Amino acid sequence: MSQFWSAVVHGLKPYSPGEQPRLAQLIKLNTNENPYPPSPKALAAIRATLGEDGCILARYPDPAGDRLKTAIACYYERVLTQTRLTPQQIFVGNSSDEVLSTLFQALFRHESPILLPDVTYSFYPVYCGLYGIAYEEIPVDENFAIRVADYQGKANGGIIFPNPNAPTGRALPLADIERVVSANPQSVVVVDEAYVDFGAETAIGLVNRYSNLLVVQTLSKSRALAGLRVGFAVGHPDLIEGLERVKNCFNSYLLDHLALAGAAAALDDVEWFEQNRQKIIMSRESLTAELGELGFQVIPSQANFIFAHHPAHDAATLAQQLRERHIIVRHFKLPRIDGYLRISIGTPEECAALIDALNHILNPQ
Ligand SMILES: *Cc1c(COP(=O)(O)O)cnc(C)c1O
Repeated sequence: MSQFWSAVVHGLKPYSPGEQPRLAQLIKLNTNENPYPPSPKALAAIRATLGEDGCILARYPDPAGDRLKTAIACYYERVLTQTRLTPQQIFVGNSSDEVLSTLFQALFRHESPILLPDVTYSFYPVYCGLYGIAYEEIPVDENFAIRVADYQGKANGGIIFPNPNAPTGRALPLADIERVVSANPQSVVVVDEAYVDFGAETAIGLVNRYSNLLVVQTLSKSRALAGLRVGFAVGHPDLIEGLERVKNCFNSYLLDHLALAGAAAALDDVEWFEQNRQKIIMSRESLTAELGELGFQVIPSQANFIFAHHPAHDAATLAQQLRERHIIVRHFKLPRIDGYLRISIGTPEECAALIDALNHILNPQ
């Protein structure tokens, strides 16, 4: 507490990120990072950009990020053959968290509360606190599924949810997303697709038909670049212009030279990306089966993590016991989900070590 704080600071409840301990022998399954390295082409592009002398760092980067926007548009033209995107439909930012922060400020400050699921990414209420935005939590059902009907016919100042949802990993079919978007023409519907590449269907193909849809993505998870901090949003040019206006009121150069170059090259390297995500999906399926054999109930996941509950064991205790064996997973002390562990998908070796540790914890000799 300080007399020097602005009034709003006293009431803030900041997000608490999963820890990043600096221990060598640690199996880190707590923040949904990718266990594999980023594309070698991304690394080469970063090195080439830096050059021998690093002189480029004396210059400001491209404030528009055009090369990166082109790479995003090209990638989606390749996978969604019917969809053409222009740079005016794309906003790039220094992580998707920052893109989210910008859009809460630019698009969600209205009279009516925004709607979000009660079990969801815990950063959303934090942005609401920062910008003075009222929100209404819509309960997910008893299987943690988002009920689409609950987002129809309700006055609101905007809607946001991740697809797949976090921290459950459950995905909504694209037809359900479209139902929410078309039922709310008066407000912006934001789909946070941080994990979409691990098995859900992107809504980017709908942006040319719905001017109230904004899709947010990150390169942190499926492209193994959490440390580079790159995120983006795709939507109608009017929405993007709103984001650009806010961005240009706090920082014109969101992305540095290295991030711009590395991110564009990572998006171009489709082959690396495909291999990497298929490996993670395969590990997720086998880990889910093995946890099932140990008595865990696992929510069907389309993400690079799973959300698991053991009916006979306290989740916080299990997390602590795993930690003693140098494995860290995430436990949220929150209503409805405090009986669950969120476990990021590691390499096959890391998954095997987790199963081995749980075996010892659950079946002591
Ligand atoms: C990880 C995550 C983000 C943030 O990604 P960054 O680009 O690394 O900031 C956003 N939304 C959800 C749901 C996430 O899980």
